[in-house]
Amino acid sequence: MSDTNEMELIFDSCSANERFARVAVAAFMTQLNPTVEEVSDVKTAVSEAVTNAIIHGYEQEIHKISLRCRIEGNLLSVTIKDSGKGIEDVERAMLPMYTTKPEADRSGMGFSFMEAFMDKVTVESAPGKGTSVFMEKRIGKGRSLWTTQSL
Ligand code: ATP
Ligand code: MG
Repeated sequence: MSDTNEMELIFDSCSANERFARVAVAAFMTQLNPTVEEVSDVKTAVSEAVTNAIIHGYEQEIHKISLRCRIEGNLLSVTIKDSGKGIEDVERAMLPMYTTKPEADRSGMGFSFMEAFMDKVTVESAPGKGTSVFMEKRIGKGRSLWTTQSL
């Protein structure tokens, strides 16, 4: 049996799909036998990235967001991509408390949460073209392979 698995979803950038996206990733990762905390970490990170695509990338207009997930061994990777307005300075955008929408009650902590809850976060973006957020998390770090397989 191969230990890799992939899925891809394309959905509209409406706020109802923040929940849809995080539940879809949670369902996909169940095959890794994650803890409740691991699922909750991934759901938070996915929510932040999808919300950013909706409010910053597309500025509330309805266009497509793509979500790709891959499992390789116990490594989960998630890519969330929009074709929206893009980010001019990615390094600055990722700083804690940096936001371009302070008036909209944004705290500028989305990328910081993604980095805190995932093992790796990489952002590629080009102004006028869109943004791609790639995240990785190793699931089951604290558990032995025997425990994982025996459940
Ligand atoms: P919070 O997430 O705390 O509500 P925020 O969304 O402003 O606030 P981050 O998620 O950390 O904070 O994002 C920082 C900034 O990066 C945003 O204010 C926005 O300017 C830019 N940004 C993030 N994602 C995208 C995206 N998909 N497209 C365009 N700009 C983005
Ligand atoms: Mg955000």
